[in-house]
Amino acid sequence: MSDEPAPAQRNGSTTEADSRPYYQAVGNEEAVFKAGFRQGLSLVLKGPTGCGKTRFVEAMAHDLGRPLVTVSCHDDLTTADLVGRYLLRGDETVWVDGPLTRAVREGAICYLDEVVEARQDTTVVLHPLGDHRRQLPIERLGVTLDAAPGFGLVVSYNPGYQSVLKDLKDSTRQRMVAIEFGYPSPEIEEGIVRHEAAVDSAIAAELVRFGQAIRRIETGGLREVASTRVLIAAGRLVAEGLTLRDAARAAIVGALTDDATVSRGLNEMVEVYLGESATPGLIAHMDGASA
Ligand code: ADP
Repeated sequence: MSDEPAPAQRNGSTTEADSRPYYQAVGNEEAVFKAGFRQGLSLVLKGPTGCGKTRFVEAMAHDLGRPLVTVSCHDDLTTADLVGRYLLRGDETVWVDGPLTRAVREGAICYLDEVVEARQDTTVVLHPLGDHRRQLPIERLGVTLDAAPGFGLVVSYNPGYQSVLKDLKDSTRQRMVAIEFGYPSPEIEEGIVRHEAAVDSAIAAELVRFGQAIRRIETGGLREVASTRVLIAAGRLVAEGLTLRDAARAAIVGALTDDATVSRGLNEMVEVYLGESATPGLIAHMDGASA
């Protein structure tokens, strides 16, 4: 999910961006997405949290001229949450479409963020929608909707993150074109941090170098490594006048762990990479040594 306040304000909300959301391509993902979409294929975006998947879909929806309906999936999300349900309005019962149904009717792109978090039964409605049928069966209404032209199904998940049980079913996955996301190269990530946090190149470069160092210690007791998102958050604090060290402690270390020992280790890294005594020469030496 994006940490940006706009454009998606509310889960399941439809957004139509006027100007292209800022997205810096990392490889051929834009070409693959657009080709898949035009062919009516569904897409699965795989990658760690905070690496730009949501922003990417926002930019693609803009380029393709489609409204975007985003749903953040969670373990309580039911089929009814996606498809719709009868609600009591006064003394009447009225049917209210869920976000997936709205997208199917409107010909919008429906983005299910972290789809493996949703209950298993929700994937059943995704099958006929995701393959050549492009149909949404709505059991409660006794109808099957044909997706309007322009409808697209996009799901994301983080492969390194869930138990085997929660893994996406093969039958679901084989219906989808996959795009793999990783963290961008340092040069690209620097540009993203600079743009999003409105900091200068030198600050962005230091934060990215620190992020890279954390990513290299893979098994240091962290469930997640530093994402582009947390580097941007630190940059924003620097833009407000905080030192790099304080910003990194608050926005990166604090966001990554609650464990006192791991925190201590990361704070030591902050001192080495971003503390007052940190010098670019020393860092270059250390990077070389640990590569
Ligand atoms: P995800 O959906 O993968 O969890 P997001 O799309 O929310 O990640 O990305 C987190 C933030 O990082 C975005 O709000 C954006 O500021 C920034 N970001 C990450 N990658 C990119 C990119 N390639 N281009 C532009 N911004 C990016």
